[in-house]
Amino acid sequence: MTFSVALRHRFPSIQMDVAFEVPSPGVTALFGPSGSGKSTIINAAAGLLRPDNCRISVDGTMLADTRSGVWLAPERRRVGLVFQDSRLFPHMSVATNLRFGMRRVEPGAIRFDEVVELLGIGRLLDRRPNTLSGGERQRVAIGRALLAQPHLLLLDEPLASLDSERKAEILPFLTRLKTALRLPALYVTHSLDEVAGLADSLVLIEAGSVIGFGSVSEVASRADLPLARRDDAGGLLLCRVDQHDAARGLTRLQGGGVELWVTLLDLPLGAECRARIPAREVILAARPPEAISLHNIVPGIVRKIAEDVVRRSVIVEIGLPNGGLLSRVTADAVVRLGLAPGQPVLALIKSTSIEVLGL
Ligand code: ADP
Ligand code: MG
Repeated sequence: MTFSVALRHRFPSIQMDVAFEVPSPGVTALFGPSGSGKSTIINAAAGLLRPDNCRISVDGTMLADTRSGVWLAPERRRVGLVFQDSRLFPHMSVATNLRFGMRRVEPGAIRFDEVVELLGIGRLLDRRPNTLSGGERQRVAIGRALLAQPHLLLLDEPLASLDSERKAEILPFLTRLKTALRLPALYVTHSLDEVAGLADSLVLIEAGSVIGFGSVSEVASRADLPLARRDDAGGLLLCRVDQHDAARGLTRLQGGGVELWVTLLDLPLGAECRARIPAREVILAARPPEAISLHNIVPGIVRKIAEDVVRRSVIVEIGLPNGGLLSRVTADAVVRLGLAPGQPVLALIKSTSIEVLGL
């Protein structure tokens, strides 16, 4: 099934013209600078803003279609909305806030006890929102949205008001929700950590337009997109735990059509995970070096070479059988190795440079 968005809208300051289609269920991150139009997309999907022209459908249900005159009212769209500020009712307990989400719908597949358990908010049920931490409040707000049995979840910078410690605390809950509930979700964020840990698809927005979209691993490894120029740019491979070698303190992953050795993981064999490989950590070589400390010599093909004028360096995109990597090197290295699109190259990656994220 798919989640499909196309909209055009003229604001005094900007012309929005956006179209993307992503698989459903799955988390789709909307990523882009402030003022680029992310909240406008969320609001149009929720039915809170009526664009000049749009066509929005979820799993075959048309929420809005200007051409055929379809415009479902917000309350008929079955969307769960979560904003940066939790918007809980201050005079109600957590339990009553949660049940508020259920008031207009038949009980469905998403049960109260399950949501409480998944979000770890069982101990908070009798408390008032003003006695909760920011992270706890956001977990309750997400719970309230889920208990309305949404067919689509819309989250507009849900973690933006939290400090990095609270963010890190809440991310595992979101990951658990994602695997347990299998909903389509649009997730606006400025954090590549959240994208890497949660998103299945990634839509990049700039000045009212989509500049790239696709699976998160595909978009993350595109040298031609502005993402590749960030300090924290890097490839993201969807992996499976293949082998543990406790004696050597290493775990072998399979992902992107290659093998990767990482430092020993506490995950069962067969478990799914994500390997994030920072572009600045990837060394390129034309031939395998001898007697070297690193564990990963990954063969790939140069796909693209993009200049980063600001940093006086070059981003090389390396194609793998099923995914890609980025490497940030100097222009001199490109010349010395004679790198050009279509040529084979070896990516050298220390096992300790690979960050493994749970699914
Ligand atoms: P983001 O969420 O990416 O920060 P928004 O979708 O909120 O961006 O806004 C995109 C652009 O549209 C901004 O330039 C903003 O000024 C403009 N805009 C958004 N909502 C309105 C509105 N209701 N009236 C006029 N301009 C708006
Ligand atoms: Mg916004």
